[in-house]
Amino acid sequence: MHELPVTEGILRIAIEHAQKAGASRITDIHLVIGDLAGFVDDSIQFYFDILTPGTLAEGAKLHFHRVATRLRCWECGHEFSPQERDWTCPQCGATGGEVLAGKEFYVESIEIE
Ligand SMILES: [Zn+2]
Repeated sequence: MHELPVTEGILRIAIEHAQKAGASRITDIHLVIGDLAGFVDDSIQFYFDILTPGTLAEGAKLHFHRVATRLRCWECGHEFSPQERDWTCPQCGATGGEVLAGKEFYVESIEIE
């Protein structure tokens, strides 16, 4: 249920920028979410629909841009995208590695009128 404060944050950022730009409404919000960030698109959309009526973002479309997990193997340095929860290096068979991508979570851009 941690999508609620996160969605409030998205909304606050989007409205702040829209107001600065003198917009009458926000039409689109583009979000970047890493697969490891642990946020569910549907939950964000759910809270967004509850929070936006009466705001500049009412009726805005949310776009989710997913970033796949990328790891660098601890043992051999090989970079790979793991399958689901299996973090086995395809090159040397070691498990786990440094996370290079997949933890992202931010508002990439908004479109306004
Ligand atoms: Zn390896």
